[in-house]
Parts: sequence; C-alpha cells; structure tokens
Amino acid sequence: MQRFSVSSPSSYRLNPITSMATRSGSLIWFRKGLRVHDNPALEFASKGSEFMYPVFVIDPHYMESDPSAFSPGSSRAGVNRIRFLLESLKDLDSSLKKLGSRLLVLKGEPGEVLVRCLQELKVKRLCFEYDTDPYYQALDVKVKDYASSTGVEVISPVSHTLFNPAHIIEKNGGKPPLSYQSFLKVAGEPSCAKSELVMSYSSLPPIGDVGNLGISEVPSLEELGYRDDEQAEWTPFRGGESEALKRLTKSISDKAWVANFEKPKGDPSAFLKPATTVLSPYLKFGCLSSRYFYQCLQNIYKDVKKHTSPPVSLLGQLLWREFFYTTAFGTPNFDKMKGNRICKQIPWNEDHAMLAAWRDGKTGYPWIDAIMVQLLKWGWMHHLARHCVACFLTRGDLFIHWEQGRDVFERLLIDSDWAINNGNWMWLSCSSFFYQYNRIYSPISFGKKYDPDGKYIRHFLPVLKDMPKQYIYEPWTAPLSVQTKANCIVGKDYPKPMVLHDSASKECKRKMGEAYALNKKMDGKVDEENLRDLRRKLEKDEHEESKIRNQRPKLK
Ligand code: FAD
Repeated sequence: MQRFSVSSPSSYRLNPITSMATRSGSLIWFRKGLRVHDNPALEFASKGSEFMYPVFVIDPHYMESDPSAFSPGSSRAGVNRIRFLLESLKDLDSSLKKLGSRLLVLKGEPGEVLVRCLQELKVKRLCFEYDTDPYYQALDVKVKDYASSTGVEVISPVSHTLFNPAHIIEKNGGKPPLSYQSFLKVAGEPSCAKSELVMSYSSLPPIGDVGNLGISEVPSLEELGYRDDEQAEWTPFRGGESEALKRLTKSISDKAWVANFEKPKGDPSAFLKPATTVLSPYLKFGCLSSRYFYQCLQNIYKDVKKHTSPPVSLLGQLLWREFFYTTAFGTPNFDKMKGNRICKQIPWNEDHAMLAAWRDGKTGYPWIDAIMVQLLKWGWMHHLARHCVACFLTRGDLFIHWEQGRDVFERLLIDSDWAINNGNWMWLSCSSFFYQYNRIYSPISFGKKYDPDGKYIRHFLPVLKDMPKQYIYEPWTAPLSVQTKANCIVGKDYPKPMVLHDSASKECKRKMGEAYALNKKMDGKVDEENLRDLRRKLEKDEHEESKIRNQRPKLK
C-alpha cells in the first residue's frame, strides 16, 4: 500500500467552499477495480467518512462513437469492450445502491473532472487504486499534485495485481526480472496469500451534497452514440463483478479441472465451452480481484492430493500476468520497438493491404480468419489462437510489425491490457522473451490437430459451412465441383490464400536470422541506418531469389 504525502502547493487555487474545517467526506475514484470485494481503495474511502463520493469519469475520447474507426466503437476501443465496461459500471452502481450509496458518473477529460470534483466537494481524502499503465501514471501525477496542494490526503493502494511491481524491481536491484523463472524466484509468495480480504460491507457512507457537478446515471450505449445494430454479433461475455464472481465460482467448482489445468494443453478451437476460464476481461477491469482468485486457487490446491504448478497451472497463469506487469512497469518504451532495450530491432515490412486482410479475417487461411472473426465478434479468443494469428502476422508469414497487430488487439479485445498485450506481442514476434523463431505455427495443421471437422471454422466463417472436412483448412485445394456444391468458390466467395505458407515462412525465417545476426553484431545498439541497410539487403536477396525461381522452368 502506498500513501502519498502532501507536496508543495501547485498553481491550483483552493475553492473557498472546501476549507479543511468543513471537510468530512472522501472521494473514491473508480477507474479499474470495478468491484466491492477486496477493494482497499473503497475500504480507505469508507473508513471514518461521514460522506463518500464514488466517482467514475466517462472520457468521451475512450467511450463515444467514432464512425471513422475501422470497427464499431470509439477512437480507442471496440464497442464490445465499451458495452462490457458499461455493464460493469451498472453492476457496480447497483451493488453500491444496495449499500446506501451510488455511482456518480461524470463526463470529460478525467484529470480536469477530478480537479473540479475536488474543488466542489467537501472531501478530506481521495482514494483510488494505483495503476501502472503509462496513461494513468501521467494522469495520476496531475491529480495527486492538485489534491496534495489543497490539503487532501491521497491514498492509492496497489490492488490490481498480486505484487507491487515497484517492490519486485527494487528487490531485483532496480531492473525487472526478464524471465518467468527469475521473476518467481525474486517475487516469492505475495503478501495477500495469507491476509484476510474484505469481501463485503453491511453499509457504506451516504453521498454528500454534489453541488453543480452535473452527475448522471451510467449511460446506455445509445446515449453514447451507438446503434442497436452496431455489431452483427455481440460478445457472449457480460461485464460486472456479479458476473465475474459467478464465473469464478463455476470455473473452480470442478476441483479436478483446476488441479489438472495445464497450459498450453487445452483446445483453442473450443468456443461453446472455452478450455480456459475467460476471467481475463474481469481481471482487466478489476471486476474480479486477482488476490481473491489467487486465494481460491490456493484453497483448492490444499484440498487435492496433486496439482499442476507454474508456469502451466492456473495459478501459474496469474503469475504470467504479474510477470508482464512487472517487466512493463520497469521497461521504458515497453510498447515500442524503438528505444526499448529488451526488444530486438527487426526490419518489419509496411503493408497496409496485408494488414487489413489479416485484421478483417480475409487471409484465405480459414483457421487464421476464423480466429480474427472471433476477435471481431467476441473480443476474446483462446491463448493458443492468439499465438497463431500473432505468429502469422509477424515472423510466421507476413513479416508485419508486431506494433500493428498489437494495435488491432488493443482495440478489439474485451480483455485488452496494456502490459499483457504488449508483452505477448513481443513474445510471439520473437522480439523479446522468446527467441526460437524457427518454430512457426502452421495455419493449416495446427488447428486441424484439435478440430479435424472444422466446427470452429464453420461457426465463425459460415461461408465455409458446407465445405467437406478434408478441404476445410485448405479450401483452395478443393476441386471446382466440390466448391460449387459447397456454395463457396475460392477467389469469389472466400479469398485465395494471400501467401503460400511454405515459402512465406521460409522467407520470414531467413529475415529473422539476418535481423538476429545484426542485433548480435551491434550488441543491441541497432539504429535506423542499420535497419534501413538490412531492409535493402533483404529486398535485394528476395529479388535475386525470385529471379532464380522464375528461371527454373526454363532450365527443364
Ligand atoms: P486463463 O488461462 O484462464 O488464465 C487466467 C488468467 O491468467 C487470465 O485471465 C489472465 O489474466 C492471466 N493470463 C493467462 N495467460 C496469460 C499470459 N500469457 N500472459 C499474461 N497473463 C495471462 N491477456 C489479457 O488479459 N489481455 C491482453 O490484452 C492479452 N493480449 C494477448 C496478446 C497476444 C498476442 C497473446 C498471445 C496473448 C495475450 N493475452 C492477453 C494473454 C492470454 O491469451 C489471455 O490472458 C488468456 O487467453 C485469457 O483467457 P482466460 O482468462 O481464459 O485465461
């Protein structure tokens, strides 16, 4: 837990109505942490307060419809995630109302709105969950400075993660551990393993006078400018703490399933009953406390004779989350290739048409396209499915920059998480953490192993629903008569493959080999000029290769 001391007065002036003598309330600023259970910021805000103001700020930039975006949603987030957030807010509001309080929704740039709240409301304490994302780091400094300068106590506990990333980095000599195993060694057991969590309240302090703040109820999607028919198919996962706790209870009710959980085993094509918990969107918004999840798993492990262990166990998955939060917090420019000391410099291609085909599920590889359609429609896919499409876009087939794939995921995932998403994209593109670039997922045989009949493909790509099973992963190999009978002519109803996987992946491996050699030679100090030279060399080699290929038939 971190407390922030009062710093020197800033340029903000104290509003006369909020002099210290008349203050008796506190303000809890909800951002993530959209829950009542195990919410230390809520505990601090409610303790000893005559009034409590639970505030959520709608940032129009994040929430309001932007028709120019490539998918329904705002300029930053797909509409599935916005709906999930609104559902989570409604659920939180309803829980607060049962306890004698309610959620106060305000609109505007969050920093400015918070300063206005502190000016208008008689509060002596501001509480909000500590957030390691760069967006909140910058925002929080502004708000903390203002609050401190006006004598408002700021309490900002760490409760989104099991560990405080800053403590782990400090314990590791100022740098984040860069492997999972070294992370486990440094981290040890989280303090929450043995602490008692506050799970419920009998009541909360009432709301005080809200002055002229312009409070509203949680808006509907329509009120934010979205239409009912915005999405042809919506995510089946509903937001909110109540839903999170129900889902957790259901996931862990089968103790044997929890004890034997082993990732990466599990079927990425299972969509009616996913092979993993689908708790990620609830953890992302803090509808579920990771510390409570951790304790539930510990209790099950105590009850069973044998269970799997990290990194493959379910508890191990939670620790992957911690690992990425810690590396992200301790690595400047974690979300970029340039200026990121843990990221290999690779001369990725720029190709907007290819990127758009991948993004829209039109690569011509049904396994890849079905996964991307699941992302567009549901905003969630199994971990190995994410592996396949991320590998295909980057080092596997298209050689497109991981940052561009990251942006698509960041927009469309309902569990979109800054640290985890960036970390996994670097992993999958062999830019950091994982370096075996010769191991490439086949867009044909990988999915077939799990789902030889192609049920997953048929569900998400109905255009292929009548394609016989022997062609479902490679419809371009079906004779025209078969395509006609299946009502799906490749090249007309469904795209031809955009690259030939065998040659494309060979080419990618060659480029990765050259890029790795350059990074080694320059001892991690590859600059723009070096990358440009390598790009030129790779293009020249490619040109020579294709000349030789074109000559081959003539030599026969
Ligand atoms: P479970 O297997 O049930 O695991 C339980 C929890 O552990 C998850 O909810 C999640 O919080 C955590 N977890 C599981 N796997 C990982 C992992 N590899 N790294 C970090 N934490 C993990 N996950 C996100 O939450 N947000 C993202 O934006 C995100 N982007 C990804 C991008 C790529 C390219 C890849 C390959 C993976 C990404 N993941 C992301 C990680 C992982 O795929 C999801 O966390 C997982 O599939 C969520 O499903 P689940 O809740 O059923 O997971």
